[in-house]
Amino acid sequence: MGRAFKVVVLGGGTAAGYAASEFVKLGIHHGDLCIISEESVAPYERPALSKGYLLIEGAAWLPAFHTCVGTGEERHMTKWYKDNGIELVLGTRVKAADVRARTLLTAAGETISYKFLVIATGARVLKLEEFGVTGADAHNVCYLRDVQDAAHLVDQMAACRKVEGKAVVIGGGYIGMECAAALHGNHIPVTMVFPEHHCMARLFTPEIAAFYETYYGKKGVNFIKGNVMASFEQDEFGKVTTVVLKDGRKIAVDLVVVGIGIHPNVDLFEGQLAMEKGGIRVDGKMRSVSNHSVYAVGDVAAFPLKMYGDVRRLEHVDHARKSAAHAVQAIMSSNKVGDYDYLPYFYSRVFTLSWQFYGENVGECILFGDHSASKFGAFWVHKGQLVGAFLEGGSKAEYAALARAARQRPTVDDTRLLAMEGMGFAMAL
Ligand code: FAD
Repeated sequence: MGRAFKVVVLGGGTAAGYAASEFVKLGIHHGDLCIISEESVAPYERPALSKGYLLIEGAAWLPAFHTCVGTGEERHMTKWYKDNGIELVLGTRVKAADVRARTLLTAAGETISYKFLVIATGARVLKLEEFGVTGADAHNVCYLRDVQDAAHLVDQMAACRKVEGKAVVIGGGYIGMECAAALHGNHIPVTMVFPEHHCMARLFTPEIAAFYETYYGKKGVNFIKGNVMASFEQDEFGKVTTVVLKDGRKIAVDLVVVGIGIHPNVDLFEGQLAMEKGGIRVDGKMRSVSNHSVYAVGDVAAFPLKMYGDVRRLEHVDHARKSAAHAVQAIMSSNKVGDYDYLPYFYSRVFTLSWQFYGENVGECILFGDHSASKFGAFWVHKGQLVGAFLEGGSKAEYAALARAARQRPTVDDTRLLAMEGMGFAMAL
């Protein structure tokens, strides 16, 4: 015999925190909601881990960034869950799920049953071992997904500083870029290694990337592009001392930070729920298309992106928050809500720079603004319509205008004029 709840949220990350907040706003009864998390702390804003958490001075550590501070709301610590009658089961991994029986089995052997399950298990980092690299489990090889990883990275940065050591960042995505900025801020010389020809290759064009690479270069960050690491060399204590690249080059190193992507945590539900794009296929209510007592939100959800008539899985915090709230509204209203109508949004902050992106980056990219003044942007125009918008160094009003533009998808007759008008085009909509 185990415990039974009306709703169980599996996972205690960002989406779970926002789901809890929405359940309370909508008046869930005390005792109806349980959140089970492998992490030992209450839900928090994961993006803080590669930003405020890694600062050498004035770092933001927990409890500063528990959900829901990311949207300017109240910070919910364990007491808030207790006060609202939510069973927050921390430090507990669910090792098996049976969606027909509506039960979860924890690693401690407890069976927890539910009427509705919200899967918010997020993702795990891809490890170098999965690509056959040995030595990648050394203590000076760091990954960044949870607060334990972040604490370990902070320790390793301190150890690296002590020996005036150097770091290599493997991967040129936003985790790599944000970690490289943090390492530099910790006075650690950094080399970034990635296989693409420029950083942030999934989003940036070469021109946009050039701005950030030049900026980083001026700070002293080295880039080795179009190359991958092949192996590590270790000393007698197991510490990685050298990164060996595919072309045979060797880089002496004291600290390695790896950001090569993530894998959604859906393994528990393989063979039980319909899957698509590596995630759990849900409908516009965030409800599993194959089991109506199950909802999936955040990084694990493959959902209909209404405005593009397409199914997507997004690994972004804004979607984690909004999809969680939407699933909760569906559960609490017996699905009498409209369909989730999401505008893709992603942002990053590095050094004193900060950018936002809305929509999608397909079609022709039209650059505008002034690179030299760190105030520039880009529009993507596809089949005569503006479909994506990016801006570095924008104001609140400008970012709101970009979102509006990406949502409205106005017709663009003359891309040269669009380039000249730049933000003026979006502001006028
Ligand atoms: P998560 O927040 O990952 O939460 C998943 C939770 O489920 C975790 O608590 C995990 O322990 C738990 N769990 C998993 N399996 C089990 C199990 N079997 N049993 C019990 N518990 C389990 N996005 C942006 O848009 N902008 C950014 O600047 C940005 N920065 C980021 C920086 C970092 C360092 C990271 C790691 C991510 C960043 N993201 C950013 C992405 C964003 O944080 C994620 O998209 C978001 O956290 C997804 O929320 P989630 O709740 O789906 O998953």
